[in-house]
Order: sequence, then structure tokens, then C-alpha cells
Amino acid sequence: MHHPRHRIRSFRRPLALAGATALVIATMASASSTIPLSSRASAGPVSAPRGTGLAPCRIPATMGVQMSEGIPTPHGYTRSTGQVRALNLMIDFPDAPAKEPATDRLAEFFPQTSDWFHTSSYGRLDYVPEAPVKDWLRMPLPFSEYGIERGSPYEPGYRKLVKDLVTVADPKVDFSAYDLVNVLVTPNAGPSALDTVLSVTFSGNDEAPSADGVPLSNTSFVYSRQDDGSGSYEETGYRVLPHENGHVFGLPDLYTMEGGGAVGHWDIMSEDWGANNDLLGWHKWKLGWLSDDQVSCASATGTSEHTLGPLATPGGPKLAFVPVTAESGYAVEVRTPGGNDEAVCRPGVLIYKVSSDVDTGQGPVAVADSTRNSGGCTRRPNVHAELSDAPFEPGETFNDRSNGIRISVLDKDADDNYRIRITRP
Ligand SMILES: [Zn+2]
Repeated sequence: MHHPRHRIRSFRRPLALAGATALVIATMASASSTIPLSSRASAGPVSAPRGTGLAPCRIPATMGVQMSEGIPTPHGYTRSTGQVRALNLMIDFPDAPAKEPATDRLAEFFPQTSDWFHTSSYGRLDYVPEAPVKDWLRMPLPFSEYGIERGSPYEPGYRKLVKDLVTVADPKVDFSAYDLVNVLVTPNAGPSALDTVLSVTFSGNDEAPSADGVPLSNTSFVYSRQDDGSGSYEETGYRVLPHENGHVFGLPDLYTMEGGGAVGHWDIMSEDWGANNDLLGWHKWKLGWLSDDQVSCASATGTSEHTLGPLATPGGPKLAFVPVTAESGYAVEVRTPGGNDEAVCRPGVLIYKVSSDVDTGQGPVAVADSTRNSGGCTRRPNVHAELSDAPFEPGETFNDRSNGIRISVLDKDADDNYRIRITRP
């Protein structure tokens, strides 16, 4: 989870938001029917040029939204391409002294986290983890005195914790040398992650305490262990950190009060437990991991055809977007097993609505389910089952009748390149 980047803008959106979110989901629910494509009359679809005319598809961030899906990401977050140096600090407390070497805690997250970013970004993000202090940094106050709970705001507990951390670490650390900070808390401080997930990121926070002349404005805190008892912790337990770091790069939470029901396991900002998963193509474009020439924008009236390759493999066309309003549209991409996606059980074309005017945790993305109420195809623990078979297969069509938008999957070749036809008013 994350916290508002600016307290001053952190007002709760009014009740109308719940209505808006429900509307998005209701629109999605009118989706999916299979039609015989060959019988459809066609005026001859045009092949959409990629990388040009993308402006209508860059739906912008909206005023009053704390953390938005909009493009571009506002200033203040950590840049998400090139070399990024991550400072890792391991901390414990007088009432929760660590029971293992600090380097063991570090090894729960690395090198997996940097490998995850390398794979997801196709090598465009070079995430360099550093730990200049190899021992635990002992905080001056007991853990309980900082008043850290799930959803705790930055003031006053986290501000106090960061100030104390700076005081203790500053003699040994040049904070100005790093782009983001990971605070890896001894797992015996606070509740088990099975009870309460405390892990949190404060991103774009210019009012954070400074050290060596720079504010610690993009800082992730990881508590406890996301160990579900299935025996997979060593393979999957690190995944909370790429989720939290997603926030320092400006990505919102995609899970809602109802959990992963809006996006399922199709993005690590939705579900960071269990089997490895990747990011949505929309997020990769937002982060600069897909370049403009890998994206096509279906903004023109009529029918266009798009060929998309699997998101898991580097290079080539990956994302088509259908703008619907100034703040929303449908993203279309191909998801197959590979790369960071290890739990894909129904490969195909994933279609989802992106709304830049819906805030983090309120459902800014909603996946369209091609097989509603199927129960899903996965048996993996901690993977949202119903949406696991959401992708559309050749011969299937997504239909948004209220907006007159149809997205049909025509066919695929042996390399899983899918041909898609988009019709819009
Ligand atoms: Zn989060």
C-alpha cells in the first residue's frame, strides 16, 4: 500500500467516487460475447501506424487524485529508467531485537528484486541495490512507541522513525548517492503479515526529513514476511518489495477494499503474494519500459487492426489503447507464460479499463473477464482465481455497448502474435 504524496492533497474523495467506481465495473460487466468474425461485413480495416498520434491515449493525471494512472507521471517520484541506486537499511528495535544477521534479511529480497525489475523493464531499468551498512541499525525507541499501524500516516510516527533512522545511519551513509530507500524492518517487529500487512511506501513526499541535503522522499518500508505457509517463501516472499518500489516510481495500488477482484494477478500492484507476476502493459508504458513505437492508439473513428506480441518477450508491438473519455480508455495486450508471468493458465488478449481520475486503491484499473463466473483456471495459492482466465482468445469479442466499442481477437500465429480488430464510433 502507499500513502498520499502530499498531505495537502490527501483529502478523501467524496462519496461520489464509490459511484464512479461502480460505474466502471458495471460497464465492464457488459463485456464479452463470441461472434463469428467471418460473417461480419467490413469496410476494410486500416492497419494502425504505431508510435504516431499517441496524444489522445496519454490520458492525463487528474487534479485531486493522489496517485493516478495518468501519463505522464508527475515530478517527485523516482525515475524508472536507466541506473537507479537503491539504499537498503536494515533496522531493529530495543523491544524487537533482530534474531538473525542483517545480511540475511537483505538476502530475502536480493537479487530477486533487481532481477524482477530487469526482466519486467526489458533491461531498461538497471536497479542497483546497495547496503553500505551490513549490520542492523538499532532505533532509539521501542517499536511500539512509533505507533506504526496499517495505514498509518506519515505524521507523526513515520516522520519520527525516518528522523531517527537518519540520525543513526548518517555517519555511515551518504544519502545523496541514492535514488530511493528501502527500510527492511526486522521481521519480529509488529504483527505477522498473515494478520496485518504493514509494508508501506511514502513516495513523492517532499516534506520528508532530509539527509545529506536530500529529502528521503521515496522510501519503502517492508515488515514481517509474506509467508503463506505453502513453502514458497524463498521464491515468492520478496515480491512485496517490487510492489512497494512500484509506488516510488509513481504506480497506484490496483487492489481495492474487495482485494484483487478488479485486476487479479495481472499486475504486481494488484497482487504481490504467491506466484510471480508482471506489470500491465499500461504500467510499462507509463514507466518508459515500452517505447512509443511499441504502442498504438485507436483514437480514430472506424475500424483498425493491430498486431501485438506477448508482453513477456522483449521488442515489438505490445500495447493498443482505445481512449474513451479524456480520463479513461481500454488497454489491450497479450499475456502468455514467460518472463515474470509464471501463473498464466489461459494465454490470450487481456483487455482492461484504465481510469486516470480514479485514485489508488479505488479501482483505477478493471480487467474485463472473457469467462465471467467461471471460477478461473488457476490452482496456484494466492492468485485471484476468477480473473485468471480473463484473456480473450481468437474468435472472441469484447463489447462495450454503451460506448459502441468492440475489440475482437482475430487470430494468432505460431509465435503468439495476436491480430486484433478494434471498432469504435
Ligand atoms: Zn501498495
